[in-house]
Amino acid sequence: MSDYRIETRCIQEGWKPKNGEPRVLPIYQSTTYQYNSSEQMGRLFDLEEEGFFYTRLANPTLDAVEKKIASLEGGVGAMMTSSGQAASLISIFNIVSAGQHVVSSAAIYGGTFNLFNVTMRKMGIDFTFVKPDAAEEEIEKVFQDNTRAVFIESIANPALVVTDIEKFARLAHKHGVPLIVDNTFPTPINCRPIEFGADIVIHSATKYMDGHATSVNGVIVDSGKFDWTNGKFPGLTEPDDSYHGVKYVESFGPAAYITKARTQLMRDLGAIPSPQNGFLLNLGLETLHLRMPRHCENAMKVAQFLEKDHRIAWVNYPGLPSSPYYSLAQKYMPNGTCGVVSFGVKGGREAATKFMDSLKLAAIVTHVADARTCVLHPASTTHRQLTDEQLEEAGVTPDLIRFSVGIENAEDIIEDIEQALNNL
Ligand SMILES: *Cc1c(COP(=O)(O)O)cnc(C)c1O
Repeated sequence: MSDYRIETRCIQEGWKPKNGEPRVLPIYQSTTYQYNSSEQMGRLFDLEEEGFFYTRLANPTLDAVEKKIASLEGGVGAMMTSSGQAASLISIFNIVSAGQHVVSSAAIYGGTFNLFNVTMRKMGIDFTFVKPDAAEEEIEKVFQDNTRAVFIESIANPALVVTDIEKFARLAHKHGVPLIVDNTFPTPINCRPIEFGADIVIHSATKYMDGHATSVNGVIVDSGKFDWTNGKFPGLTEPDDSYHGVKYVESFGPAAYITKARTQLMRDLGAIPSPQNGFLLNLGLETLHLRMPRHCENAMKVAQFLEKDHRIAWVNYPGLPSSPYYSLAQKYMPNGTCGVVSFGVKGGREAATKFMDSLKLAAIVTHVADARTCVLHPASTTHRQLTDEQLEEAGVTPDLIRFSVGIENAEDIIEDIEQALNNL
């Protein structure tokens, strides 16, 4: 990793062409790589030599993007996955097995909640969901002897809860387990959880990182800081029978976790993105440092407008001084939070849908966090499967409108909101 500032790293990290090679990251659309001897190929399989041999495990285009993201987050290594969902699954399954337990914030993305609460339970992994704002002593009560990880979102989608990263890092470390942070909403431009004690950072790179809604991608970043040798993680310290008895910590040191994720889980689960998607993600990353401040600036203007309008029941934007999360946001992301604002219009669920249907510039789409302003009603879409109680725990009220402010002219976005409110 270079010493350049983050803006420079967005552009310069990752692909480093040798003399005469393409300046721009090429799309290596190849499943396979040719070698002169079977012996060398054997060494690659034994992880004794670095190199590419099959794109399910690694690909030069994806490798360059992984290096860039690892640099942006301040980690020792990263692995791209075919989606944010795959990143969440693999980040936990890499260290937690059937019969073990995870402590998770209740304020998380609806898809992640279903993955944990339904699908991963079927895999024998137990979860306890805690209110992120609960006192440290309260949260501590849910830890068990078999707890192996703690999972939070830095800014929860869509509740916009800013989670106290240091509080959860303290709790996790006190119990000898890592803290995994989904950092999708602030992106490393606005928040770098590893600096506050996170051990693993994951992303739905589908959102701001790609930024243009072109490709579904995920990524897992390893801080390289967690000590896996405390006896709780034999998968990282004992021989891996499925990989010629390799011991990850012994052989790969700080990169043990991310190497195991790749050589064991990516090999077996195969959730690899296409090289084409890696190329598009890389293009997005090159302007991430320009787009994020504009998203935040526009979102702040929208939030301030909504806060003053009498037809609005409530507004939640962690950048607003009136937000209960303002001080946490100032601490963890002083340069800005994200472009997503949530609010309720007076008149509840019905008014919410009428308002949304009247919008002209802001499109109703199942997406969030890209260049174009878009809007969604989580209670009837992404969080549809949740009970009222689960909705409340996740911080999603039935009238919540998730408004993802794009990078258009803020005045145009506000005028669109105004005309839709006039229609109510
Ligand atoms: C969208 C999202 C996910 C899931 O990512 P996909 O790329 O859609 O699979 C996970 N976490 C957060 C915070 C998200 O916004």
